[in-house]
Amino acid sequence: MKPFTYARPSSAAEAIGAFSAAGAGARYIAGGTSLYDLMKLDIERPQHLIDVTGIAGLDRVETAGDQLRFGALVPMSVAAGDETLLRDYPLLAEALWKAASQQLRNMATVGGNLFQRTRCMYFRNGNGNLSTVGAAPCNKREPGAGCAAIGGLDRGQAVLGQSASCNAVSPGDWPVALTAMDAAVELLGPDGPRTAPVAGLYRLPGATPHLEFALKPGEIVTAITVPKTPAGRRSTYHKIRDRESYAFALASAAVALEMEGDRVASARIALGGVATRPWRASAAERMLVGRRIDADSSMEAGRAALAGARAGRHNGFKIELAARTVADALLIAARRTA
Ligand code: SF4
Repeated sequence: MKPFTYARPSSAAEAIGAFSAAGAGARYIAGGTSLYDLMKLDIERPQHLIDVTGIAGLDRVETAGDQLRFGALVPMSVAAGDETLLRDYPLLAEALWKAASQQLRNMATVGGNLFQRTRCMYFRNGNGNLSTVGAAPCNKREPGAGCAAIGGLDRGQAVLGQSASCNAVSPGDWPVALTAMDAAVELLGPDGPRTAPVAGLYRLPGATPHLEFALKPGEIVTAITVPKTPAGRRSTYHKIRDRESYAFALASAAVALEMEGDRVASARIALGGVATRPWRASAAERMLVGRRIDADSSMEAGRAALAGARAGRHNGFKIELAARTVADALLIAARRTA
């Protein structure tokens, strides 16, 4: 780990000022569950850490009114246990409590979790110290170096949204559920406040996989908002992984349904574990409108959600797995009462 300076401002304005003053090499940090890890692996080398956990007023979940509002510093474990989420938006609660371990959820924040970096093992093995792969080129770590994952050990890599430069999976669960729910972030930066859709935070890798998030320099997330919808109650976050806890998704589906009688009035579907960013499955959503949710229609939607998927050497199983994950999620959500 390289030496760095550390500051803990007490207001957002102070934090943004400290970031601007520090210049290149400054990074915000909250729970630190991802950044410290990458610093220890010598992947991240910030020169100045600006700890935002001292900023007052960003630690509340607000459920009154026409939207849910999560202060960016709410611990994931606190949001996961919120009674309104558990009752009215189970996909949000499930996406949170199926992530990481309880200790990590206690430290990690709902704002910081939006910016978790990929688990691609080649990316994380910059110094060659991790067991299986040795030091290997990675365009995300070192632009222009090449990509060892393409044509390499790619069992965990993306089948949607990949490019000739990178096929790393976007690792989050919470961003997938937020994408399905049309959530937005409130941002504050040197140019003032703005809002942006959560889905718009994530860039496709294209030829620049090192540019992952659509943030302006110095911006911080202050809150996440989710429009209220009756679809919240008939929802689920279904996560399939190699072991049942403390593992990243091989495939996941965030699903919410609004029904008229036994027919779908509207559907929301987003995929995790298979794409280079949280992946909204709009065609699958549209094809379900007016249909009953049964074994046939849910599987049809699952296949539509994976339209255009392309496998590498070892990850072809993900296409069928993800289609079935969507189908299962739809059946689970449909059984829930509004
Ligand atoms: Fe790096 Fe992306 Fe290739 Fe992984 S898939 S080695 S993150 S460029």
